[in-house]
Amino acid sequence: MAVYKNIETTLIHGGIPIDERTGAVNIPIYQTSTFKQDGLGKMRGYEYSRTGNPTREALEALISDLEGGCAGFAFASGLAAETAVFSLLHSGDRVLISSNVYGGTFRLLNQVFDHFNINYTISDTENPESFEADITDDVKAVLIESPANPLMTVTDIRAVADIAHRHGLLVIVDNTFMTPYIQRPLELGADIVVHSATKYLGGHSDVVAGLAVVSTDELAQKLAFIQNSTGGVLAPFDSFLLIRGIKTLGVRLDRHVQNALTAAKFLSTHPAVKSVHYPGLETDRGYKVNRRQAKNGGVMISFELKENYDINKFFESLTLITLAESLGGVESLVCHPSSMTHASIPEEIRKKVGITDGLIRLSIGIENITDILADLDNAIAQSEV
Ligand SMILES: *Cc1c(COP(=O)(O)O)cnc(C)c1O
Repeated sequence: MAVYKNIETTLIHGGIPIDERTGAVNIPIYQTSTFKQDGLGKMRGYEYSRTGNPTREALEALISDLEGGCAGFAFASGLAAETAVFSLLHSGDRVLISSNVYGGTFRLLNQVFDHFNINYTISDTENPESFEADITDDVKAVLIESPANPLMTVTDIRAVADIAHRHGLLVIVDNTFMTPYIQRPLELGADIVVHSATKYLGGHSDVVAGLAVVSTDELAQKLAFIQNSTGGVLAPFDSFLLIRGIKTLGVRLDRHVQNALTAAKFLSTHPAVKSVHYPGLETDRGYKVNRRQAKNGGVMISFELKENYDINKFFESLTLITLAESLGGVESLVCHPSSMTHASIPEEIRKKVGITDGLIRLSIGIENITDILADLDNAIAQSEV
């Protein structure tokens, strides 16, 4: 444990900051599958890298320190982390999920965990009363995304956690969009935080990884058992890359958020734009709640163009902002949720939760904001029909 008063410092010196044996200021990549035992039952702390690896362990300690948890776990992807967390449930259990979660999260529950009779209900967690009304006897957990993807709807994490705990539910928050630099769900009452570390934590679009942090020793023991038993662990090299990425999270996010706020203001006053979803704008529906629980509105923006703009032309006219899945890297990315990140959600559910075919999602990078705005402005102009 190495937690400092200010998170900027914990980002760089948290977890296990120094290699004790050599003094190396970066934890080495322990590229080994197994470890010598000095005699029967005489291990030096490690036995096999699925169970534990020093590089992965340094990352796991770091994310736990950053989220203020009890223990951290690193997985081969965000969905591998969610798979491990949902594996805490049993046949017959049900999980409530925020009404626009990541498409892959939905698919995991809708098409994989349903084989094991673990069910889900989409719940309007943005509205705590309606969430409470969805709690039936079989509901054992709630998964919140806030802001939720792709409409950036904000859930009052503390309010939902309080209700959930009165009913004995496990509260899981997908904190991918905010990271512990902006929002710390365990402090708001969550029991487990999950991340697609592929996004801001890695930050350079060069590694796929997932993390989970738990708030109690009991959950830590259960999740450690599941991690070792199901085996979706993160490799030593990828663990190293993530530690490296996390060191610059603070400076990257400061710029990301500044750029995102400027881009959101630009879009919200642009005559071609029908709607903008960004909880950092004072006019946004989720602004007040988000402000209470997070440092700022984060980086993700979604918006719709007016009817006389051709969305295909818009995507094809961008020259700087790249059309691609994913988010959270230093480069600006754009995507079309209904055909890309959220395509695995059936059309009628997409329509119901407001993921229209005209919705555009932006992950604002750390390039010069003038260049980003010029690219957006030009593509909008080109797409007018
Ligand atoms: C990308 C993403 C995931 C899935 O993570 P992978 O690393 O792609 O498996 C889960 N939740 C959110 C919010 C995401 O953006």
